[in-house]
Amino acid sequence: MEVTNNYIVIKAQIDGEPQENDFEFKTEPFSLSVKPGSKDIIIKNLYVSIDPYQINRMKTVSASQKTSEFAVGISPGEVIDAYGVGKVVASGNPEFEKDDYVVGLISWGEYYISKGFMLSKFDPMGFPLSYHVGLLGLSGLTAYAGFFEICKPKKGEKVFVSAAAGSVGNLVGQYAKHFGCYVVGCAGSPNKVKLLKEKLGFDEVFNYKEEHDLNSALQRYFPNGIDIYFDNVGGKTLEAAISNMNLNGRVALCGVISEYTDSGKRAIPDMLNVVYKRITIRGFLAGDYMNLFPEFLTLTIDHLRTGKMHVLEDVSIGLENVPSAFVGLFRGDNVGKRIVQVAND
Ligand code: NAP
Repeated sequence: MEVTNNYIVIKAQIDGEPQENDFEFKTEPFSLSVKPGSKDIIIKNLYVSIDPYQINRMKTVSASQKTSEFAVGISPGEVIDAYGVGKVVASGNPEFEKDDYVVGLISWGEYYISKGFMLSKFDPMGFPLSYHVGLLGLSGLTAYAGFFEICKPKKGEKVFVSAAAGSVGNLVGQYAKHFGCYVVGCAGSPNKVKLLKEKLGFDEVFNYKEEHDLNSALQRYFPNGIDIYFDNVGGKTLEAAISNMNLNGRVALCGVISEYTDSGKRAIPDMLNVVYKRITIRGFLAGDYMNLFPEFLTLTIDHLRTGKMHVLEDVSIGLENVPSAFVGLFRGDNVGKRIVQVAND
């Protein structure tokens, strides 16, 4: 059977702030049958993840493009692969069968042909499919591995997390609180601040856009210093956090979104502080911690079922909303995990 497949492409490389008109839609005839002898897996995309790192793939040049297979550059006109959840329509791969739910690399489109790269079957376990894109998917693993494995927290330690109302940030804050840390987040709007304090139980939250001097803001919230900084934004926030770290502090460098759309913006942390306070700054990629997936899932599902963990999702419906959902990430429009539902199950 043949259908049409609508998908999204970039018109040209994007080297600054992305705009909706940097994207266009393409339509192609698409066969829902696997060619004889092929091991292709044909997937109907259901929920696609909208992630900041994709902007680095869309640039003419980015250091990230040479680091891992899923971060390679995207050319204009090409299908954009992206994390998400789908359903198998047909498969020549013996590990996948029609109607299996799959999570992993699919695309910003209606259908995707996978070779099985970064794709697994999964059991929704009674949870909404969208949870497997965010909380029970890569955002959750990022927060879990970054916090527990990279930051190696101890109970009672003082934790600062930036982009705290975002997909990864809100989960880091929740894990840290349930683990027994003191948690301060920063976010970019009064509504986000209220939500994190009143619903998610952060100890303190501030709106970084209202602070003229981030250094003194952090001194105010951490009079005894920061033990752990989970960095999602880089830039001035990273500089201020480094200035307020305690001896043997740990910084998990998860992402530097404030630098993604401005090539002139780079954090210049005080390295003397790093040396004399013996601070560990460590970058990481969640994909390197798939070995932690089972323990991450066990803890997170337990937190969910006992009502300890809240789910922050920001779901738009319809493929046509992917460009606006994506560009909005860089304006802070999203609250929690940004997802687009492309089709009904
Ligand atoms: P997200 O936090 O849900 O969305 C991005 C948020 O970043 C926005 O809502 C906005 O919140 C904030 N932001 C945007 N521009 C900013 C700026 N110029 N300065 C400060 N904050 C800004 O996205 P996410 O998926 O959870 O990703 C968060 C970070 O983790 C990103 O840097 C991403 O690249 C990284 N990441 C890394 C890995 C890994 O494996 N290392 C995996 C996933 C994500 P405000 O309203 O608070 O400004």
